[in-house]
Amino acid sequence: MSIDLSAPPVPISFEVYPPRSEAAWPKLHQTIQRLATVNPRFISVTYGAGGTTGGRSLELLSHILNETNVEPLAHLTCVGSTYETTNALIREFLDAGIGSFLALRGDPPPGVSEDDQFLGDLESAAQLVQLIDRVQAERTPYREEPVPGVPGAARVARRDNIDIAVAAFPNGHPRSRYANEHIDALLAKQAAGATLAITQLFFHADDYLSFVQRSRAAGVTIPILPGIMPVTTPARLRRTIELSGEPMPAELSVALEVEPTPEGQQQIGIAHASALVREVLAGGAPGIHLYAFNNHDTVLAVLRDAGVTTDG
Ligand code: FAD
Repeated sequence: MSIDLSAPPVPISFEVYPPRSEAAWPKLHQTIQRLATVNPRFISVTYGAGGTTGGRSLELLSHILNETNVEPLAHLTCVGSTYETTNALIREFLDAGIGSFLALRGDPPPGVSEDDQFLGDLESAAQLVQLIDRVQAERTPYREEPVPGVPGAARVARRDNIDIAVAAFPNGHPRSRYANEHIDALLAKQAAGATLAITQLFFHADDYLSFVQRSRAAGVTIPILPGIMPVTTPARLRRTIELSGEPMPAELSVALEVEPTPEGQQQIGIAHASALVREVLAGGAPGIHLYAFNNHDTVLAVLRDAGVTTDG
């Protein structure tokens, strides 16, 4: 299967994470069924860096594959892993029928700095993209095709049935060492074979739109899907800022802090996210990727509010 962002209606997709306890599976299965009703192009499943959620990620991806018509997209990280472990992991996912990936380096575990420990054989997401591409190519039938400069037909690996997404950072990566390192990193991921980029969350449409403009000027040609996270409580906003390193969105923060009821806060979060959805689509975004937090109500309300869907 392949992810097609070209056909109408507006392509939408969701991110979920493997449940932290056995008891959470039934509710998550319901959420997946509800998300599937709006025909997302894919549902992506996070992966704990260092393999902490590996088995549960694959179980959830297999559930999406077998119980819905939606393409499952597997996040994979390589930080802290040997080449052999990562290679075996890619093969395990492919064997399970998973053909779309989000290739990430992943963050070093807490307390480990960039240079004082073994951080893995693969040093960047671009190297992981290359490895996924090569493993997939090895397993796919070759086709005969002319290669410029090589006389006669050459055997070329088919690579047209796999999607490899990568992360992109509109406001830069918190650990970037110079101003445009995040755009250079995205170019390297594209050169390695990435077919799609999904952004880190952001709170202002211009963060995304200007990033796309700068990326295009630098030579990035793959689609860049905006990653949008509806934030519906002050505590969630604080935690999100802490984890992502994004600047605090002052207006949203004040609005959530002064609203006394959870219902009111929910409405503020939905309205903020749906306004972002409308603005990035008006600015030319090729689709919308929503961080669902394993809950369908909020993200489906955002899509309805933005006029992207009428059902769900
Ligand atoms: P890379 O592109 O390889 O690196 C990103 C940036 O890190 C580079 O631009 C550079 O500025 C900096 N950098 C790279 N190498 C070094 C170095 N040696 N020293 C200093 N700085 C360096 N994490 C998970 O664990 N599991 C997930 O499922 C997951 N899903 C994600 C989904 C999305 C859409 C996004 C945006 C992020 C996700 N992350 C996840 C977080 C991600 O793993 C971290 O942001 C990680 O720090 C960077 O990963 P990357 O793939 O972008 O790495």
